[in-house]
Amino acid sequence: MKVLVLNSGSSSIKYQLFDMRDESVLAAGSIEQIGEPGSHLSHRVRTPKGEMAKTVRTLAISDHRQGFQLISSVLRETGALADTGELKGIGHRVVHGGEKFKEPARVTPEVLTAIRALIPLAPLHNPANLLGMEVAMESAPAVPQVAVFDTAFHQSIPPHAYHYAIPKKLYETHQIRRYGFHGTSHRYVAKKAAEFLDKPLESLNLISLHLGNGASAAAIQQGKCIDTSMGLTPLEGLIMGTRCGDLDPAIIFYLARETGLSSEEIESILNKESGLKGICGVNDMRTVGEMAQAGDPEAQLAIDMYCYRIKKYIGAYHAALGGLDGLIFTGGIGENANFIRAGCCQGLAHLGLEMDTGKNRGPREGCSAIESGASRVKILVIPTNEELEIAEQTMACLEADESRSTLCLRQQ
Ligand code: ADP
Repeated sequence: MKVLVLNSGSSSIKYQLFDMRDESVLAAGSIEQIGEPGSHLSHRVRTPKGEMAKTVRTLAISDHRQGFQLISSVLRETGALADTGELKGIGHRVVHGGEKFKEPARVTPEVLTAIRALIPLAPLHNPANLLGMEVAMESAPAVPQVAVFDTAFHQSIPPHAYHYAIPKKLYETHQIRRYGFHGTSHRYVAKKAAEFLDKPLESLNLISLHLGNGASAAAIQQGKCIDTSMGLTPLEGLIMGTRCGDLDPAIIFYLARETGLSSEEIESILNKESGLKGICGVNDMRTVGEMAQAGDPEAQLAIDMYCYRIKKYIGAYHAALGGLDGLIFTGGIGENANFIRAGCCQGLAHLGLEMDTGKNRGPREGCSAIESGASRVKILVIPTNEELEIAEQTMACLEADESRSTLCLRQQ
């Protein structure tokens, strides 16, 4: 019972092959720089001893079609997958599902057309995701394919939280509203938190903080997302590696007026030159932490601003949820940067959040709780696993399809 998960970018394809009987990873890897001189494949496969053996091959990979064929052949050669016929399904990460996709969808020509129609909302991501699906369908036509959307988990957000206070016509004609991203990760860690706390997810109010290069917060009420910090695009909300997050929109017009920069140039500054990089020159939180330790005031300011923004969201979502059971940290920064977790929770005892400094600093594996005995709210560090969540949702979608068709046959 094998499921292949594909995450296709404009010049890359990342993949993981799962054995869904025990959800173990049989192989994983990526193809990078497709169509460029340095194109290469990096592949890890589970050995009979259970270790992951790594190989890297530098070779000319001209397009995604060739990339997919290379993935199939390396999976075959390394014994992970005898044939694509062995696959129960292929799950694809799709960034934007708009308002149409509230659940994962079996990929059909109609679904591809609907995802294509959403390209204006995600011009960088949806075309690459589509290409990955088209190539996989051509190369393995007998294998069912499922699209799993980053936006789907946030489709439960109510209108008062997803509308912007702009003319309603702009929503009606241009679909301008809050969509949110990182949904697969927020959903996965919320489920894991419920498992870890041994409580039904439907009984919990959670705030999930996905802090990676991109970063977002989600307010989850009884298992359903009711608000999230990213908006129409991933630019809104928290401070990120190179993205500014929340901003007075008038800054854009002021900048255009004062500097003559084009809207593309301003967009590029806000997406690629801002956030941690804009404040202290570096976008990698590990380096920012080291610089702050060494006394760099700009790095310290970046950390202070980063944590302060998150604290404002914790306060806002605490109010929106009407009470909080757990705060979840995930993503590269959330899972590893104890100084950020400490900064985000500092001074929040009045909201019931009290961290145990020793537990926060200590080594960890898997899910862990880092609140003190006095804390009313659980503070959890949960490693995310978006690929596994996509594989699980792929299985669930295919099983639901199978049971629907069995029911149809019985009714005929
Ligand atoms: P992506 O969003 O690309 O998946 P990740 O979730 O891997 O990114 O997060 C990358 C971020 O995590 C980087 O800013 C990196 O510096 C940070 N990070 C990873 N390990 C540590 C660590 N030990 N201490 C501080 N930051 C870390």
